[in-house]
Amino acid sequence: SDRPRPLVAGNWKMNGTRGSRGVVEAVRDGVDPALAARIDVLVCPPATLIGAFAEAVAGSAVRIGGQDVHPAASGAHTGCVSAEMLADCGASHVIVGHSERRADQHETDAEIRDKALAARRAGLIAIICVGETRAEREAGHTLSVVSSQLAGSLPDGAAAADTVIAYEPVWAIGTGLTPTPADVAEVHALIRRELVAKLGEEGRGVRILYGGSVKPGNAAELMAVENVDGALVGGASLKAEDFLGIAAAY
Ligand code: PEP
Repeated sequence: SDRPRPLVAGNWKMNGTRGSRGVVEAVRDGVDPALAARIDVLVCPPATLIGAFAEAVAGSAVRIGGQDVHPAASGAHTGCVSAEMLADCGASHVIVGHSERRADQHETDAEIRDKALAARRAGLIAIICVGETRAEREAGHTLSVVSSQLAGSLPDGAAAADTVIAYEPVWAIGTGLTPTPADVAEVHALIRRELVAKLGEEGRGVRILYGGSVKPGNAAELMAVENVDGALVGGASLKAEDFLGIAAAY
């Protein structure tokens, strides 16, 4: 089929120590050749673990990514990490504009776009996150919010090889709540239309992930929705068995 190749990505958030290496090794060992032939599997640990995890998965089908990046390549930005540094540690992807950073660090669409451009500059794939809050959904603003976040945070010239979109309703993250398949389909169809409007045919190949309380028990239903090309998984990615159970939904 001409569906994009699925990506199942884990966002560990601020969890994990060097002792967590066994989890990524279990993910590595659980991604058998049949699964690796069908989907891409990515683990995004805290920055402190990227190097060790990249070593742990070297030679396997599992990829390692960052959770954030600074737009600049280097310089006077205490505490920050550049895309070039992530790549140097063995990362191939980086999440940008996660809702926790939009909220906690007040990240704007323009900053997120600059982070995605930094990822491209360093040869990383940017996973650009968008999604409405509960209040925005209840006010009927879901489509306009997602559309405006996408317009502001997707760089010109984005391509299927360097960009992934993650639709993550803020109210579904870490809550056990999920939108209905019909609601997911509506938002993913909007994102697909806007990708094609901005990028032309290239926009059909950009993967659109769903994220928000994905578990082994609901993954198959969510992943079957049209224009859902994979999952961004928070809590359930911390346990290899659960993460692999979600990947197996493909
Ligand atoms: C996330 O934060 O990206 C996420 C999807 O979290 P959870 O799966 O825990 O809802």
